Amino acid sequence: MEGRTYAADAEPGDTVTVAGWAHEIRDLGGIAFLIVRDTSGRIQVKFEKDEMDDDLVETGTDVSRESVVTVTGSVEEEPRAPTDVEIVPESVEVLAPAEPELPLDPSGKVDAELSTRLDNRTLDLRREEAKAIFEIRAEVLRGVREYFRSVGCTEINTPKIVATGTEGGTELFPITYFGREAFMNQSPQLFKQLMVGSGLERVFEIGPIFRAEEHNTPRHLNEATMIDFESAFVDHHEAMDVCEGTLRAAYEAVEENCGEQLETLGFAEEFDVPEEAFPRLTYEEAIERVNATGELDEFLGWGDDLSTEAEKALGEEIGGHYFVTDWPSEIKPFYIQDYDDDPDLSKGFDLMHPRMELVSGGQREHRYEELVAGFEQQGLDPDQFEYYTKMFKYGMPPHAGWAYGVERLVMTMLDLPNIREAVLFPRDRQRLSP
Ligand code: ATP
Ligand code: MG
Repeated sequence: MEGRTYAADAEPGDTVTVAGWAHEIRDLGGIAFLIVRDTSGRIQVKFEKDEMDDDLVETGTDVSRESVVTVTGSVEEEPRAPTDVEIVPESVEVLAPAEPELPLDPSGKVDAELSTRLDNRTLDLRREEAKAIFEIRAEVLRGVREYFRSVGCTEINTPKIVATGTEGGTELFPITYFGREAFMNQSPQLFKQLMVGSGLERVFEIGPIFRAEEHNTPRHLNEATMIDFESAFVDHHEAMDVCEGTLRAAYEAVEENCGEQLETLGFAEEFDVPEEAFPRLTYEEAIERVNATGELDEFLGWGDDLSTEAEKALGEEIGGHYFVTDWPSEIKPFYIQDYDDDPDLSKGFDLMHPRMELVSGGQREHRYEELVAGFEQQGLDPDQFEYYTKMFKYGMPPHAGWAYGVERLVMTMLDLPNIREAVLFPRDRQRLSP
C-alpha cells in the first residue's frame, strides 16, 4: 500500500497512514482508544470525542474487533500509551469489517483448543505466539540453506510423485496417475543419492514427504518437510559433521535474528545454542547406558530399536543432542553400508534430541553387487528400482547423507508440546482440511 507506515515505525512528529486490524477498542467516555495491530506491532489511536468530528469518532470506535482498518493522522508522544506514541486521527477507513462473533480470540486472552486453532489458522496466526513460531521456522530454513551453500552444496528439487516408494511398504499414499498406480514420495533418498553420481556431487533438498503412517502421535505428521543432505566422497562421520553444522547454524540464526520472537515464546534469557560437539555413542554403548539407567520396564537387547521410552531415558541422562552410530544392519535400510569386517554392523546413525529422533543418516552402499543383495535381503524387488540401481554400474562414488524433519527441529528448539504447532496446516489421520 503506497504511503503505508508500519506501526512500529511511527515516530512522533510524523503524519502517517497505518493499516492493520482493530485489535482492541476501549471507550472511557469522553475519550476512546482504538489499538491497531499490524505485522510489526501495535499502535494506539486516540479519539477525543468533544474535539473530533462525530463521524470520525463513530467509525473508529464502533468498528468490530479484527476488522481491517486504515488510520491517517499525526503521531504524538504519549508515555501512557503501550508503545509511548499514539496517533491523533484525521481519518479512519474500514476496509474489511469482521463479524462480531469470532471463532477464536486473536488477542489470546481466551484459550482455544488446538483443533479450533487449526481450523481457523488465519485467525490463530494473528496471535503473537503462533506467528513467532513461523517466523522462527523461516529463519531456521534460511540459516540451514546458508550453511549448506557455505559448505559447497547445491539445492535440488526431486519429484514427489513416484512409481515406487523409497523403501516400499505400507507407508505410501497411492494416487492415480493417468490410469496407472503411483505414490506420493516418502523420502527423496534415492533421487538425492543419484545426484552424488552426477556432476553435482553434493546436494541438499528442503521439501515435502508423505507417509501413510497410521499412528497418531505428538511427533508424527502424514505430510512433513524434510531437510535432506547427500554428498559424494564423504563417510558417515563427515556427514555427521555437516549435520551438526546445520543444526548449530539454525540455532545461531534464530538467536541472532529472532530475539523478539524468542521473547514472545518465553526464551528471552535461556535460549541455548548447542556449543559443545555432540557425543557420538555407538548403538552398543547406547543400549548399555539406557539399560543402566534402570528406567526401562524391560532391558533392551542387541537388535532392538530404541523405544520412545528408551529415547527418553537416554535423553535425560545425556541432557543434550547426541548421535547414535553403528546400528545393527538388520534395523537399518538396505541402502546403508555395513562394515566390511562385521556385516551385522551398519554405518547408519541417528541424531537424537533428548526428546526424540531428529535425523537418520549413514554411509551408503555404493557398490552395485552389494546394493542389489541388500534389496533382496530386505524382501524388495530390485527390478522395481532399476532406474536407481543401474546408475551404480556407471561410476557411483562412495557417499553419505542424512535427513531431518523441519517440524521436529522447530518443535525441539522451541520445546513445543505438539509437532502440529510447527506446521501451518497439518496433515494427520483426522485432518485433511484446511
Ligand atoms: P520415527 O522413528 O521417529 O518415526 P523414522 O525413523 O521413521 O522416524 P526417518 O525415515 O528416519 O524417520 O526420517 C528422517 C527424519 O524425518 C526423522 O528423523 C524425523 O525427523 C523426520 N520424520 C520422519 N517421519 C516423520 C513424520 N511422520 N512426521 C514428522 N517428521 C518425520
Ligand atoms: Mg529414522
